[in-house]
Amino acid sequence: MAKPLFSNGFTIETLDKMQWKRRSAEHQKQYKHFLKAADKNKVLKQLPNLHEEAFSQIDCLQCAACCKNYSPRFKTPDIKRISKLMRMKESAFIDTYLNLDTEGDYVVKTTPCPFLGADNFCSIYDDRPSDCQRFPYTDEDVILKRPQLTLKNSEFCPAVFVVMEKLLAAGT
Ligand code: SF4
Ligand code: SF4
Repeated sequence: MAKPLFSNGFTIETLDKMQWKRRSAEHQKQYKHFLKAADKNKVLKQLPNLHEEAFSQIDCLQCAACCKNYSPRFKTPDIKRISKLMRMKESAFIDTYLNLDTEGDYVVKTTPCPFLGADNFCSIYDDRPSDCQRFPYTDEDVILKRPQLTLKNSEFCPAVFVVMEKLLAAGT
């Protein structure tokens, strides 16, 4: 069982003080091994509590690293919903904000995301893309099913770092 890096209390500030990004980089191999070998059912059982604990203490409004640096996929239902909200034609919405990426998904033309405000609030929050609603997947089996994505997310999302550290410490 890995030694826990921290006890229960943490905030973005305390995580920054403990240089969580450096620690995450150092632990990538352990995370990779864990994601490959983990007992899926045991992990899925722990995720709701770990997800809840992480987001009860980490304030996304103090972070916004995902919205500042990466793009969600804008799937057809997302485009329909958001363009309607913005009273734009779907084609005009796409022309204004989106590009196709190498995998054929629509993503924002520029980062930070054009819908992110200076206060880190999302201007289309209630209608945001499904990817944004689900990110960072710490309460879904995606965390095990897409290990490369989880590893990448653990390097910039403090909540994923916390969940991975807690899973390692529990030795599931
Ligand atoms: S990177 Fe993680 S902690 Fe930061 S805003 Fe996004 S989901 Fe929240
Ligand atoms: S749509 Fe909103 S939640 Fe999604 S990346 Fe943009 S600002 Fe963030």
